[in-house]
Amino acid sequence: MFWRIVSFLACQLGGGLAGWLAASSTGAATTELEGLALGLVLGGMAWFLFDMSRGARLLNWLRAGDVSEVALSAGLWGEVSARVRRLVLGRDRLLRESQNRLQDFLLAFQASPNGVMLLNAQGGIEWFNQTAATHFGLDPQRDMLQHIGNLVREPSFVRYFAIQDYQEELVMPGRESTPARPVRLSVHLYPYGQGRLLLLSRDITALEQAEAMRRDFVANVSHEIRTPLTVLGGFVETLQTCSFTEPERERYLALMAQQAERMQTLVSDLLTLSRLEGSPPPGISNWIPIPDLMRQLEADGRALSAALNPATGRLHALVFDGPIEGEIAGVENELFSAMSNLVGNAIRYTPSGGAIAVRWDFLPDGRVVFSVSDTGPGIAPEHIPRLTERFYRVDHSRSRDTGGTGLGLAIVKHVAQRHGAELSIQSTLGKGSVFSITFPASRFRTAPDRILPLPG
Ligand code: ADP
Repeated sequence: MFWRIVSFLACQLGGGLAGWLAASSTGAATTELEGLALGLVLGGMAWFLFDMSRGARLLNWLRAGDVSEVALSAGLWGEVSARVRRLVLGRDRLLRESQNRLQDFLLAFQASPNGVMLLNAQGGIEWFNQTAATHFGLDPQRDMLQHIGNLVREPSFVRYFAIQDYQEELVMPGRESTPARPVRLSVHLYPYGQGRLLLLSRDITALEQAEAMRRDFVANVSHEIRTPLTVLGGFVETLQTCSFTEPERERYLALMAQQAERMQTLVSDLLTLSRLEGSPPPGISNWIPIPDLMRQLEADGRALSAALNPATGRLHALVFDGPIEGEIAGVENELFSAMSNLVGNAIRYTPSGGAIAVRWDFLPDGRVVFSVSDTGPGIAPEHIPRLTERFYRVDHSRSRDTGGTGLGLAIVKHVAQRHGAELSIQSTLGKGSVFSITFPASRFRTAPDRILPLPG
């Protein structure tokens, strides 16, 4: 401001002096005063025009909106331009920072495994992430600002949205739900701000399936345990109320023992399954000699065959074969339980006199296969994919009569998976079945005497 007054006075002084000197050269006293006045006016006008031109430059600079350079460097207008520039640059920085923050928030919402949608007070869609787009079949380009009611037409959602009671979540079918592949969504609306709504959606299909499986499992276990318990209870009551001869009593007690054993086997299989699910997968440090496994399988197999055919004495033709020299890595009791389940099934489901072959084979890529083939009744193709489900049985009476729990193949599948192996089932109705477990090459090694010791 000081320099502004100084420059104005300097212009006046210069103009006045020039007017005075120009008039004094003519010699008349009145003309000198007029010259002074005229000089002052002209000096003032010159300052005013110069000042206006600087103001106009500043105005043009502001209109152009390019604050990358300073319009004027000195004077009042210079200071105004510098302050305006600083203010604008500060606002720009703040704006950039809040835009970056908003972008971060949106990226976080985008990364969310749940669907997120923001609705304005009128129910228009302001933003949604990719998961919400998949859940409701929305298109980010086409559907922004559209009313949610026009895009999500599922009746239960329309009702939920209209009633405006958002205390509870809504469970509704997803956009891609079909009777064969149902998709279930949990949707919850949360009011915020001035009538706005936050919509969160979650795919709960797997959760609902797991819950249904858990319910089925509990129902199945209860059913499996109730049957022998009812039989046992009946025998106890009969023994308490009636008098029997010694042979009759012996027979009843034997039948009771059979039911108790059935429950014991069931509980033991259930415990095996829960142990398999709860423990970490076995490493490749414990090596089990295959000949040992085969010897034990053969002994148990022959004993079972004899126990199942006590009257006829006609046993199964059992063959244990293959290049069995070598070791397999894993948990011995798990592997033995899986293999003996397959051998046991073959014996239990194949009528006496049938042939059963248990063998090991190498595949060209180094994998090894343990297989059990039988000449039993075979299994119809529609049952095969379901055989490893818990309590799934094709032949209910044969399974129960021979002490089956319906959990054997579920155990085999679990053990195989834990060892990185695969259970496969081939069967022809009326001809027989082949159950095989294919182990990865890394789980097999030749007998230790052929392995060179590690140096040092
Ligand atoms: P279970 O204890 O009833 O044998 P599994 O899980 O071991 O239960 O087997 C499931 C069902 O698969 C059996 O109930 C039976 O119907 C069928 N199955 C298993 N192995 C054979 C086989 N070798 N031949 C024919 N059917 C079989």
